[in-house]
Amino acid sequence: MSLTLIRRPPGLQFGGVDVRQLADRAGHTPFFAYDRSAIDARIRELRRLLPSGMHLHYSIKANPMPAVVHYLAGRVDGFDVASAQEMAIALDAGTTPAAIGFAGPGKSHDDLRRAVASGVNVHVESETQLRLVTALGWELGVQPSVAIRVNPDFQVGQSGMRMGGGAAPFGVDVGQVPALLRELEAREVALAGFHIFWGSQCLHAATVIEAQRQSVELVLRLASGLTGPPRFVNLGGGFGIPYFAGETPLDVKAVCEAMHDWLPRLGERLPGIVPILELGRYLVGEAGIYVCRVIDQKVSRGKTFVITDGGLHHHLAASGNFGQVLRRNFPVVIGNRPDGVTRERCHVVGCLCTPLDRLADDIELPEAHIGDFVVVRQSGAYGRSASPLHFLSHPEPVEMLV
Ligand SMILES: *Cc1c(COP(=O)(O)O)cnc(C)c1O
Repeated sequence: MSLTLIRRPPGLQFGGVDVRQLADRAGHTPFFAYDRSAIDARIRELRRLLPSGMHLHYSIKANPMPAVVHYLAGRVDGFDVASAQEMAIALDAGTTPAAIGFAGPGKSHDDLRRAVASGVNVHVESETQLRLVTALGWELGVQPSVAIRVNPDFQVGQSGMRMGGGAAPFGVDVGQVPALLRELEAREVALAGFHIFWGSQCLHAATVIEAQRQSVELVLRLASGLTGPPRFVNLGGGFGIPYFAGETPLDVKAVCEAMHDWLPRLGERLPGIVPILELGRYLVGEAGIYVCRVIDQKVSRGKTFVITDGGLHHHLAASGNFGQVLRRNFPVVIGNRPDGVTRERCHVVGCLCTPLDRLADDIELPEAHIGDFVVVRQSGAYGRSASPLHFLSHPEPVEMLV
């Protein structure tokens, strides 16, 4: 007679932990988990490729979980924030205020007051903001650190992908920059830097290279009338990650190599200036998963629906409603049976009463049962914080850094 051990087939490993164990740790589904070793590996690899002298900033809006920001604080050179609360998270992580850039088209008087009082770099995006910031400097008795966010006048990208060059609420048009510089001078405030943001989620190396080259040229033009070089120039980021079938990762090596073409010229023309690359999703997006549980399953007119306890209220982007034009499936797996051999075509949906709540359409997966875990990859950025958590009043997802 032989003893048979009850063995579960191996589940998806994430951050060195089985996804079922992660669920036990979270206490309930749905949850987001972020893998610190994956974030670390991503940054190490990027640092290896980046020319020395290039600073790396993290854009907190991609994932503002304080534990994530804290973890990144020792690994990047600074943070870009877009609200007073994000600024507070960056400061709480121990970041020096001079390494924090505060951008955003709608900064309120109170936001600006907090920013000036904290000593962070305020990226002004209008004449109103510039006047407010300098006035607040007087009121608070501090020299404000003012950078100008510029709406670039160049257009790069493949067919249909328009990045910059149009009317926008972000930044100030290139033609309006000289007037702002004069105004700063009249108020005896030195310009701290320029900020050029030309686009996001780009997987095409040639486009990123061209945008950076044009950003540098633009900055050299804008800075030609200044008495001294500004302290920094934020050249944007735009590094994308592959979300959908058929997408290929950005050739970051090529992008980093091309930086050698303009870095020396930038340094000669504007000695001491610090070039900054600001990245959000590229640093954290692939290091996160969203996990929900199958709570029902049914067939309607020949189609199988797998119904989960998650949905668009936690993960708007995976549902296809976060600015996507065409709805496509994020990578989805059955976490406790990733290699299951009996497979079926199904539609994975969330628990909300709206046809918009879809997690994967017409996808082939291992046959799912009630209690199984549905894992959505590429969920480390623009997940929880970019979703309408209160829509339909279901419980909120947990977040863990593992
Ligand atoms: C959102 C944003 C980013 C980050 O974009 P990712 O695509 O996540 O890298 C960087 N800079 C600015 C100004 C932004 O608004």
